Amino acid sequence: MAKWVYSFGGGKSEGKSEMRNLLGGKGANLAEMSNLGLPVPPGFTITTEVCTHFYANKRSYPAELKAQTAAALGAVEKIVGRKFGDAKKPLLVSVRSGARASMPGMMDTVLNLGLNDATVEGLARESGDARFAFDSYRRFIQMYGGVVLDIAHHHFEELLEHAKSDRGYALDTEMTAEDWKELVVDYKAMVEKELGRPFPQDPHEQLWGAIGAVFVSWMNDRAITYRRLYQIPEEWGTAVNVQAMVFGNMGGDCATGVAFTRDPSTGENAFYGEFLINAQGEDVVAGIRTPQQLTKAGREKQGAKLPSMEEAMPETYAQLVAIRTRLERHYRDIQDIEFTVEKGVLYMLQTRSGKRTAAAALRIAVEMAEEGLIDRKTAVSRIDPSSLDQLLHPTLDPKAPRTLLSRALPASPGAASGIVCFSADEAEALAAGGKSVILVRIETSPEDIHGMHAARGILTTRGGMTSHAAVVARGMGRACVAGAGEIRVDYAAKTMSIRGRTIAAGEAITIDGGTGEVFAGEVPTVQPELSGHFARIMEWADSYRRMKVRTNAETPLDARTARRFGAEGIGLCRTEHMFFEPSRILAVREMIVADDATARAAALAKIMPFQRADFVELFEIMAGLPVTIRLLDPPLHEFLPHSEADFVELARTTGKSVAEVKARAEKLTETNPMLGHRGCRLAVTYPEIYQMQVRAIFEAAILVAKAKGETVAPEIMIPLVAVRRELDVMRDHIAKVAEEVRAATGEAVEYSLGTMIELPRAALRAGEIAETAEFFSFGTNDLTQTTFGLSRDDAANFLGAYEQQKILVRDPFVTLDQEGVGELVKMACARGRTTRPDIKLGICGEHGGDPASIQFCETAGLDYVSCSPYRVPIARLAAAQAALQESASAASLVKKPAAKKSAPALDRHARVRLDAARRGAVRPAPGRTAPLARLAVAKKPVVKKPVAKKPAPKKAPAKKAPVKKAPIKKKPAPKAKPKTKTKSKRK
Ligand code: ADP
Ligand code: MG
Ligand code: MG
Repeated sequence: MAKWVYSFGGGKSEGKSEMRNLLGGKGANLAEMSNLGLPVPPGFTITTEVCTHFYANKRSYPAELKAQTAAALGAVEKIVGRKFGDAKKPLLVSVRSGARASMPGMMDTVLNLGLNDATVEGLARESGDARFAFDSYRRFIQMYGGVVLDIAHHHFEELLEHAKSDRGYALDTEMTAEDWKELVVDYKAMVEKELGRPFPQDPHEQLWGAIGAVFVSWMNDRAITYRRLYQIPEEWGTAVNVQAMVFGNMGGDCATGVAFTRDPSTGENAFYGEFLINAQGEDVVAGIRTPQQLTKAGREKQGAKLPSMEEAMPETYAQLVAIRTRLERHYRDIQDIEFTVEKGVLYMLQTRSGKRTAAAALRIAVEMAEEGLIDRKTAVSRIDPSSLDQLLHPTLDPKAPRTLLSRALPASPGAASGIVCFSADEAEALAAGGKSVILVRIETSPEDIHGMHAARGILTTRGGMTSHAAVVARGMGRACVAGAGEIRVDYAAKTMSIRGRTIAAGEAITIDGGTGEVFAGEVPTVQPELSGHFARIMEWADSYRRMKVRTNAETPLDARTARRFGAEGIGLCRTEHMFFEPSRILAVREMIVADDATARAAALAKIMPFQRADFVELFEIMAGLPVTIRLLDPPLHEFLPHSEADFVELARTTGKSVAEVKARAEKLTETNPMLGHRGCRLAVTYPEIYQMQVRAIFEAAILVAKAKGETVAPEIMIPLVAVRRELDVMRDHIAKVAEEVRAATGEAVEYSLGTMIELPRAALRAGEIAETAEFFSFGTNDLTQTTFGLSRDDAANFLGAYEQQKILVRDPFVTLDQEGVGELVKMACARGRTTRPDIKLGICGEHGGDPASIQFCETAGLDYVSCSPYRVPIARLAAAQAALQESASAASLVKKPAAKKSAPALDRHARVRLDAARRGAVRPAPGRTAPLARLAVAKKPVVKKPVAKKPAPKKAPAKKAPVKKAPIKKKPAPKAKPKTKTKSKRK
């Protein structure tokens, strides 16, 4: 019989933390904590498979579920000695959702379930506290009403407000038992009116109502939005946890709280959290009351008056500290925990790995490695490369003048300026229009997620460090200042005011989520310092990395930034940008409208010194490193004038009439410029352009070598090659210039010639192109465009629909399409290497900075990735993780067949990769051995079996080849190519 329900509690569980897929994160960890002997109220988890079943079967449950649930509930009753629905000693439960990945605030928890008109009396009698019992009952009606019965929140709020104002109360705490009892009557009447039927009194009906609501909520809008933002598959489903209630609201010796085992903002190894005395459930995170600090140090740091838990409940606090250590040792990661204290007894209600800022992630990883909790590889693997973005971006310029408006909680670091806006929808709309927005809310809720995502920063006037706004902002890497209680927000008037000053929607403010400060207007920012833990992780990452990381840069500023970030050369210098400078564009235009080669050469001669100066500066910055320069790529009409004044000026300098100049421009206009007269096609018709460029490159290299004693190794890259002969023609032009420069200066420049692979034909014919090309650089932007036949400039209009209808999972311009474009890349690599075993392979499209695509580049065995300067550290880390993963999977490949009998243990994909390793297709970088190849060599006996299964390679009779040599045996080298003419290592 299928098992749909897993029990936990009473010191043992049917589940464990590894069963997260089945039990959800919350359920799996409740089970694990219970197994560890921690005090967890007993309960059970209804699995995610029930959710799947629910949606696959017209929202119905598997037949066995009722009985299994009843049995599990019976077990809970036994442990706590209470009965569900019993009027004397009622068992109350919470019903909590819990998906595989934590989705904070996405699904609502119902507490105190099992209360009705009869059990509430039992609870009152038994606890001797009628006030507590009726307060719990009204909370239950309110939560259940909202979550399960879909009754709007404000109905309850209004009744509560009336109840208080009628009695002249300001606070909930002034309500007496009698008052709550009366409110319960009002609540029930209102529910009956809204619903058309009474509030359910049968605890079992309540239970199944709540379970159903959790499953249904998996498909609500906010859950769907969250899943889309974080790419959580819908198929995962959620589990439901039903757990015996414990009460943090039974008096002064009760409390509820949340904590992080380390500081989630800075990563400091200090216990960190908030709690509330005499409170239940989500009161801490909801921001209704301002919570107290967990530790004395924390309280002192904040200058708060109310005592910390350490001071108010020292014994319970000591137990909590012991659990903190226990959990960290067990999970070997920072934990985010929820707990409740009932009459001095501590209960654990949740643990999960804590969300942390990028800075905290680095510090925690480094310190845990140093503490010996994890090893360095784990430390490196733990950092999400994309999250480094948060650190690489500017912070407030300390010298800049500023007007402080308020200071509140530093909820998520980073500085952000933008215009104030008060609703998530507006924030989204303004951001879509290119505006920087600061979303200002009293507090945020899951409905605001899209606006928080669109905003640069978030400011709330209520709530603590663990409020919804703070948690979500940290996860998203948005700056956030929370709990700015001094600021009053008026949604209707769209203003925020503070100490007599009013700021309206649309005015700029700046927030610093690292200090909690809020400033008027825009405050300038400065670059971050990249040292300490960041440097440590990078150093470790670099020791595991196989691929090199270069940058795409053409300006000195970009090149310097990239070097500071650790770039190991330039992988793409786009020379067209250099043509657009105001001081040069006129000469460029003269060149374009020139009637013949002589006139063209004259115009080009004016541009040449500029180009040379550009390269001199770049080469100085990059001295000692390779620099790949792509010769002019875009169609010429991009440089042509647009305004009348420009045409007039061009006419004047060229001595032509305006009409003539315009006619020339007209002629250059193309129907489909993306597929038109661009790239090397330009130089087929106008070779002088490329000749000028390479002359500038060679002369610059000579100048820099003379001045610095060191220069770069220029790699000249020809764009848009489809046919090998195109490259041959370019090679000859370039060789001619090289010879002229040598004759004139007596110096020979060492350079290499290669090509972009950005057209499918080039990928297909890579074998013969490699006869001329000494390197390939995959221009995956154009290669994606041409492989899909999909215009990058127009795709945005409809790619959204493609993603929505799941035709494409990811935007192929962001993450490389491994199946299609990736196949071409792999094919071109293999064919290129067959011709030229030492061909250098890299990628220079946007994908070079995308971690998922970098992983692919590692498997494809590229030598380097190249990306924009700010992504260089991200790429370094992603490349290290890819190398670690690759060697881990190679290791498991080698192990698997050893455990089983023979090759069939390998799946097809694995076998292909193992073969690739054996053939050396996963190529080591010079001086290093690729992890796969290394392993295949090292573990010879194991590799033997898959070898034997495979059809023997044609030229090496496998039978006779000694086993130990098989893996390292190189294919007979292709007949050595004579060095191409371009390899001009002449003296
Ligand atoms: P979320 O996923 O939003 O964190 P939870 O299911 O963790 O929701 O519930 C929120 C809070 O409700 C918990 O932190 C805890 O304080 C309270 N809670 C849940 N179950 C119980 C219980 N069995 N007894 C007491 N409090 C509970
Ligand atoms: Mg919640
Ligand atoms: Mg929780």
